Amino acid sequence: MSVMELSHRSPEFAKMADKAKDDLREFLEIPQNYKIFFFQGGASLQYAAIIKNMLIPGRGANYLNTGLWSNQCLTEAKKMSDVPPTEMASGAKSKFTHIAKPKDWNINKDGSYVHYCQNETVHGFQFQDEADACFPFELFGNMPVVCDMSSDIGSRRVDWTKFGMVYAGAQKNLGAAGVTVVIVREDLIGKQHKDTPFLLDWQLFDKSPNGFFNTPATYPVYVTGLNIAHMIKNGGLSHYCLLAEQRS
Ligand SMILES: *Cc1c(COP(=O)(O)O)cnc(C)c1O
Repeated sequence: MSVMELSHRSPEFAKMADKAKDDLREFLEIPQNYKIFFFQGGASLQYAAIIKNMLIPGRGANYLNTGLWSNQCLTEAKKMSDVPPTEMASGAKSKFTHIAKPKDWNINKDGSYVHYCQNETVHGFQFQDEADACFPFELFGNMPVVCDMSSDIGSRRVDWTKFGMVYAGAQKNLGAAGVTVVIVREDLIGKQHKDTPFLLDWQLFDKSPNGFFNTPATYPVYVTGLNIAHMIKNGGLSHYCLLAEQRS
């Protein structure tokens, strides 16, 4: 039988999906206290999921605007938040080639979380690992950091201790369209709002068999699994970091 003919509740598919997640954990060195999900809806649906699972009523959240994607995420937050989101800084005036120095950002210190996009795929603004080009994690204390890594996941190392939630549409760097990789620190699961739709509810998926509440995009999950296994076989993350460096 082809993957397309298998039930998504069959042991064969469950094994395939579990292996894809285990391989991703190995490839990106994701610690055990982070859960991995394969959602549908693209990176874009997580804009709303982040709000529904992480926004604490009355406290708002911080958003950095460095280009098209982080701006869309901020726009969603403006529609859905009880307290308007804080735009810490915007690169719009420079057509997203610059951002203000972090000491000049407008930060809601009581915010539920801080969101940024690590690599703005369209406008090209990327946070890097060097001291003067990295995200200023130290300004946020214990506030959970949420990061859109859609277009540079798997091409650089991740210091997981710095992140509460990371998400990426799999179609850019990891696998096939139809899978969205979501990685959440365990303690951030279970705080969803009462009116959270099933498909945005991280805890509901976490409690469901193999992390799937409803039918996942089975074939794209399979293809994503194959690709991650292939990337491990090719030399793992160090190999892909080197390739990305050579290209740039
Ligand atoms: C492509 C992209 C998105 C949107 O991804 P979809 O899976 O199409 O929703 C979001 N953020 C970044 C950085 C992207 O490159």
